[in-house]
Amino acid sequence: MRVSIDEDGCVGAGQCVLAAPDVFDQRDEDGVVVLLDEEPGEHLHEATREAALLCPALVIHLAE
Ligand code: SF4
Repeated sequence: MRVSIDEDGCVGAGQCVLAAPDVFDQRDEDGVVVLLDEEPGEHLHEATREAALLCPALVIHLAE
């Protein structure tokens, strides 16, 4: 699985961080998402998919 994010569209809602804290973080200054792991391992796939579904701005893209 490969993860990409469109930072410009991120509204800093933090749903991704709650769902998959090993894959996503947020910048302290403005809450914009930081991708920690572009190719998360198998054990993180479900949480990463959840994060993509929960993101209100739909800026998390997954290539499986
Ligand atoms: S859930 Fe989406 S909008 Fe919210 S911080 Fe994560 S990437 Fe940004």
